[in-house]
Amino acid sequence: MLHPTPAGLFCPVGGFYIDPVRPVERALITHGHSDHARAGHRHVLATRQTLDIMRIRYGEDCCESEQAAEFGEILDVGGVTVSFHPAGHVLGSAQIAVEKDGLRIVASGDYKRGTDPTCASFEPVKCDVFITEATFGLPVFHHPEPRGEIAKLLRSIEQFPDRTHLVGAYSLGKAQRVIRLIRDCGWEEPIYIHGALAKLCDYYVGQGIELGDLRPATIDKSTPDLFKGAIVVGPPSAFQDRWARRFNEPLISFASGWMMVRQRAKQGGVELPLVISDHCDWPELLETIKEIAPSEVWVTHGREEALVRWCELQGIPAKPLHLVGYEDEGD
Ligand SMILES: [Zn+2]
Repeated sequence: MLHPTPAGLFCPVGGFYIDPVRPVERALITHGHSDHARAGHRHVLATRQTLDIMRIRYGEDCCESEQAAEFGEILDVGGVTVSFHPAGHVLGSAQIAVEKDGLRIVASGDYKRGTDPTCASFEPVKCDVFITEATFGLPVFHHPEPRGEIAKLLRSIEQFPDRTHLVGAYSLGKAQRVIRLIRDCGWEEPIYIHGALAKLCDYYVGQGIELGDLRPATIDKSTPDLFKGAIVVGPPSAFQDRWARRFNEPLISFASGWMMVRQRAKQGGVELPLVISDHCDWPELLETIKEIAPSEVWVTHGREEALVRWCELQGIPAKPLHLVGYEDEGD
């Protein structure tokens, strides 16, 4: 019913792909990150929020026609029963369940189990085959409590009140989650954002996610003092170039699951790594598979072998899918 092809996971019975990496006739899309949602498909089926996010990122003509799926709604696509369920990854993110002749496969897309007030929480869906991501699929990956990471940022501002704290966060999902976490930890000052985040932050606010006082991080000669001890959030790529050096003694921080790997932080010149991930860590992956108890697990994008091995030790048949083209834009 579903098998990997170079264009992505294909359902020949229903004539559709899930998160195709090449333009196709009919695409079902789990969420708006650029490695999963690409422009140029003819027909796209996704949640309303994912469709909106695709239009914000790729423009009005990013696909020829679209259909919005409500969470839990039962749809028929070419004779295959399809439904979307919350994945807890970013706003609008969904797992996609496909079912025919009593066989149900759930493609989870990217997902996490930790609390995140910026999107609907992951809902376990009973299925025969569970397709799981394994971005952080090694026993070394344990993501700490995100509020504790934000506390480190706020302590650093107390300690270095003259330095501008630049927080790198991917523009869809992570940036809004980090801003929301900073608010939930009691920071009421304005938060300055790089222009690349503006439209998506506006969209989140329009969807009812409070982000507080956000202001553009534009600096001119008369305002350098404004950014002393301020928090500036921007895409990590912006911090590598001249933009970052305009701020007062910038202190570079980066919010990502990869910040658990000290070498990665060092290479990126990150002074204050914040381990905040929108993916499952190793214990969450195991907990999810135990909870869903599928008869088979397929593992994709990431460290597939360790999770396949763990499933086999539990007596659950498992295999790696080796899908290509997923670079975890929002880790
Ligand atoms: Zn993602």
